[in-house]
Amino acid sequence: MSMNVVTLLYLIASVCFIQALKGLSHPTTSIRGNLFGMVGMAIAILTTAALIVQLSGGKAMGMAWVLLGLVVGGGYGAYRAKTVEMTQMPELVAFFHSMIGMAAVFIAVAAVVEPWAFGITPPPVAAAVGVQTPEGAAIIDGFLRYAIPAGNRLELFLGAAIGAITFSGSVIAFGKLSGKYKFRLFQGAPVQFKGQHMLNLVLGLLTIALGLVYMATESWAAFLAMLLLAFVMGVLIIIPIGGADMPVVVSMLNSYSGWAAAGIGFSLNNAMLIVAGSLVGSSGAILSYIMCKAMNRSFFNVILGGFGGEAATAGGAAQEQRPVKSGSADDAAYMLSNADTVIIVPGYGLAVARAQHAVNELAEKLTHKGVTVKYAIHPVAGRMPGHMNVLLAEAEVPYDQVFEMEDINGEFAQADVAIILGANDVVNPAALTKGTPIYGMPILEAYKAKTVIVNKRSMAAGYAGLDNELFYMDKTMMVFGDAKKVVEDMAKAIE
Ligand code: NDP
Repeated sequence: MSMNVVTLLYLIASVCFIQALKGLSHPTTSIRGNLFGMVGMAIAILTTAALIVQLSGGKAMGMAWVLLGLVVGGGYGAYRAKTVEMTQMPELVAFFHSMIGMAAVFIAVAAVVEPWAFGITPPPVAAAVGVQTPEGAAIIDGFLRYAIPAGNRLELFLGAAIGAITFSGSVIAFGKLSGKYKFRLFQGAPVQFKGQHMLNLVLGLLTIALGLVYMATESWAAFLAMLLLAFVMGVLIIIPIGGADMPVVVSMLNSYSGWAAAGIGFSLNNAMLIVAGSLVGSSGAILSYIMCKAMNRSFFNVILGGFGGEAATAGGAAQEQRPVKSGSADDAAYMLSNADTVIIVPGYGLAVARAQHAVNELAEKLTHKGVTVKYAIHPVAGRMPGHMNVLLAEAEVPYDQVFEMEDINGEFAQADVAIILGANDVVNPAALTKGTPIYGMPILEAYKAKTVIVNKRSMAAGYAGLDNELFYMDKTMMVFGDAKKVVEDMAKAIE
């Protein structure tokens, strides 16, 4: 396969990736986006595999390694993607990022040890002592070896350091998100200690210093020490961040993994890695920014950590006792079937209860009775961007019933009923009050509806750990219970 053909195939794959990102920006085009992504990735993988086989001179061993990687990696990835629960999606993504980070480290280490295998330097040749050495080469152990050019050293250093931080940071993020492990660093609650930020700063500067030593001397020891520090830093950066902030962190690590891949792509002179890495790096950075903006938090506020940790782990801790109006699923069904317009607000609890199909059924029954039903989606409802859109799409909710916050907020005041299912922070009017932790966060204005029905299991706070005034309003009726059971009961009652 000539290099021109490789370049052309890489170009086609790159265009597919760009189309994939474009398609994924809206639910109606997301299937097309995914297809583009799959085709692009298949072209990229097959071209690279063919290239490796060609470079290894068609040796059986080289081909066997490539095949093994494709079968094991591809098989495991397909299995995990098929079996993952929607609420476990962020941890699966964290797991994949850790793999990308480690891959970047492996490639960088291999390239530092044998730069000629990656075309970075000419291969070493046996040379007698005292022979005239060309510029940029030295005789080591009887072999004439060429130094790695300065530019490549910088790329390898950056790729390896970012890859190591991404790997260990993603492992901690995975542990925190899964919530299954007893290990203290994997707990959702932030791990904070005195002088933590100073320690991170010192370690960061030391990592850079060791990287500079490697670049100046090509010292293998400095490279390894730098890698070790980067692994430790990945852990230290992530442990002070509460479990509930992990999706922002995962998106940030996503961005890191992209830059690591791009860095390595420059060293390997591989255009595909540079393009794909840059796309992942920049889209991850934009996504982190969008999430922070939608939560009215600065990026540094998230990274410096602490927020949301207790709320995430308190899981059902009771708030102060104040009277609320509560009713049954039958009461709610009665109110819903007598309404002209109903706006459904899904939240994290809906995903936990896996009530999306039940909600669709409820909405269908209401529509059948002539009620206009709309869904209102907050940009950070749930635990990752687009969480609610994906859930509703899975239940085949018609796209034209699903509205983004800016488009639906003006309609709450005319709605007869706003029904809030497992959502809390995204409808909390505390966001309008100065001094509250979520002040300034844009919310769905469900409190403006003529009647409000709230379904959750208890009076426990949401992710931000705040009480919600909406629950105590005269026009609000609480329906306590698991979202799936309650919604199914409502649908039955409407029948
Ligand atoms: P919240 O976490 O604020 O509230 C979810 C509510 O669901 C809880 O109050 C809980 O109350 C209830 N709940 C839990 N399980 C069930 C169940 N089985 N049945 C019924 N109710 C249940 O979620 P929101 O979606 O309103 O807000 C998302 C929050 O997450 C925001 O603060 C956002 O900033 C944050 N976040 C979002 C990110 C994103 O990208 N989407 C990223 C990072 C953070 P109870 O225990 O009483 O049932």
